[in-house]
Amino acid sequence: MLTRIYGVAFETKEELEAHLALLEEAKKRDHRKLGKDLELFRITPEYGAGLCIWLPNGAFIRKQIEDLWRSEHLKRGYELLFTPHTAPRGLWDTSGHAQHYRDSMFAPMTIDDEEYFLKPMNCPFHIGAYNFRQRSYRELPLRFAELGTVYRYERSGVLHGLMRVRGFTQDDAHIFCTEDTLEQEISNCLDVAQFFYKTFGFTKYKVELSCRDPKDTEKYIGADSLWELSENTLAKILDKYGFEYKRVEGEAAFYGPKIDVKVVDAIGRTWQLTTVQLDWNLPERFDLTYVGTDNQPHRPIMIHRAMLGSLERFFGILIEHYAGNFPVWLAPVQVRLLPVSAKFRDYAEQVAQKLRDAGIRVQMDSSDEKLGYKIRKAELDKLPYAVVLGQKEMDENTIGVRRRQEGDLGAMTLDAFIARIQDEVTTRKL
Ligand SMILES: [Zn+2]
Repeated sequence: MLTRIYGVAFETKEELEAHLALLEEAKKRDHRKLGKDLELFRITPEYGAGLCIWLPNGAFIRKQIEDLWRSEHLKRGYELLFTPHTAPRGLWDTSGHAQHYRDSMFAPMTIDDEEYFLKPMNCPFHIGAYNFRQRSYRELPLRFAELGTVYRYERSGVLHGLMRVRGFTQDDAHIFCTEDTLEQEISNCLDVAQFFYKTFGFTKYKVELSCRDPKDTEKYIGADSLWELSENTLAKILDKYGFEYKRVEGEAAFYGPKIDVKVVDAIGRTWQLTTVQLDWNLPERFDLTYVGTDNQPHRPIMIHRAMLGSLERFFGILIEHYAGNFPVWLAPVQVRLLPVSAKFRDYAEQVAQKLRDAGIRVQMDSSDEKLGYKIRKAELDKLPYAVVLGQKEMDENTIGVRRRQEGDLGAMTLDAFIARIQDEVTTRKL
């Protein structure tokens, strides 16, 4: 019998040290620890393994991400959908999920003598929005987007904080288009993806072309010729737009090949985020059509795409990427006021009101602790700004500003401080 020993070997002492430092840094950034310390989310067995409660701080950050996601998609010609969480078996038979994705689905429940499954994907519902009436070529491309919550069965051994869960919200969209616009639509998807990488501070990424496993074609639906066409089309697009990529066999979705993008985080680890999938098969199975210029029915092509993957996993990645130091535009509390003593609470209250009026999220530390303690606490809570208010500030009508990880920025007028924060928010400064 052969025994495999997994290990990491290093050529030099420096390499070993760098590796150990990375492990140490990763431990400090562990999203499960920060999630608890900063009160971002909760996952516990009594509420279901792999199911997440977003606590107020985490929920606020999610809302910020969702707002940006929705506005960016509307700007780019997407339309928003909301769809149910469950559907009868017949739908999953038509889509092929009941046959090809069953192992990843929750067990069915019976309602009115019919089996219902929690949705593992949003696709069939978006198809339902497409085919509720006859479509014309003039309407295409149709781009339907949804922050759609899905449920997938994962073995309990592989569940890991937010990174591997059983219920999650995909930032999903399905584009229905013709062959003529296919290339442009896929290129647009990669463009949206790059917008998000830049916004969240991921400067490097790696692209993969995930193809069918040629030795196990049973796992997939659709004709060989369509698979060849789809894989070649995606390769052509990646080449045309100058993306360097690696071809990976066996990683395709059961209905089509895909482009997968992995981002590199602040400490050099890679995370799968984006997927853009090409699909000739589901339009066939659902008999989707549009009326062409020739007045005849034609088959649209479907693109499935998620930019961030899922909000849960993306949030886990963000927590570790930022080490919990969320940029000002995302931070649930942007400023904590630290009155030096009870004497300055009225002044602090006036400052708080002006900040709130300017749309800034502010909190007051009115405890009787010493200033040094309050400053340390604000730093530990990873608040972007702490503002000291004492005699000097009150006399001079200023505030004493401290920036997380930078320390004392000195005295500032309230107007200058407000302008500074508003600028960080509008530019989504990292
Ligand atoms: Zn889909």
